[in-house]
Amino acid sequence: MAHDSYLINPGHPEPEGLAKSRRAFLDEMRRCEQLGLKLLNFHPGSHLGKISEEECLQRVAESINQALAQTVGVTAVIENTAGQGSNVGYRFEHLAAIIAGVSDQSRVGVCLDTCHSLAAGYDLRTEESCAAVFAEFEQVVGFKYLRGMHLNDIKSTMGSKVDRHANLGRGNLGLNVFRYLMNNLRFDEIPLILETIDETLWPEEIKLLYTLIDK
Ligand SMILES: [Zn+2]
Repeated sequence: MAHDSYLINPGHPEPEGLAKSRRAFLDEMRRCEQLGLKLLNFHPGSHLGKISEEECLQRVAESINQALAQTVGVTAVIENTAGQGSNVGYRFEHLAAIIAGVSDQSRVGVCLDTCHSLAAGYDLRTEESCAAVFAEFEQVVGFKYLRGMHLNDIKSTMGSKVDRHANLGRGNLGLNVFRYLMNNLRFDEIPLILETIDETLWPEEIKLLYTLIDK
């Protein structure tokens, strides 16, 4: 699962910015197509205080439609956001609204970021709260759309809408969510991607994740 440029805003409120973002998004989708990559993760976008969240979400869906119509075999994977600034995509309902506006729903999916989820107010700190959050996800979006996960701890606090990644076990999230993911079959066969800030810790973090599997 590739990640597109952070500068692309497929929900841009202004015609010029929207057109530029759509061109750049299509370019990224085409690059995936050429490389044989099946999944492109992207951030849904920002309304910049100029249009409503609903309008912004519709624009994102239309941007996806345009890119899907011009490519083959690549799935557009919407990442949930922390809700920082005027970013949309911080509620499961936002992800569902985008999907609802996509014509070919076999080529749209979502990626949940554990840091963004907690910042957006989804409590992933205990096994019980994880079960409740993912039950809500199933109800509002559906696991059939889950195409990947971004694994991060968080420096900011729950509901803060502040997007600050931390290495696993070194933030305010803790390890329970990762134990939950590693032992739950619904997260098998999808990419689980570390986006933690200190890459020298990645080998250690991958080992840590495997130790969380119940024997
Ligand atoms: Zn992420």
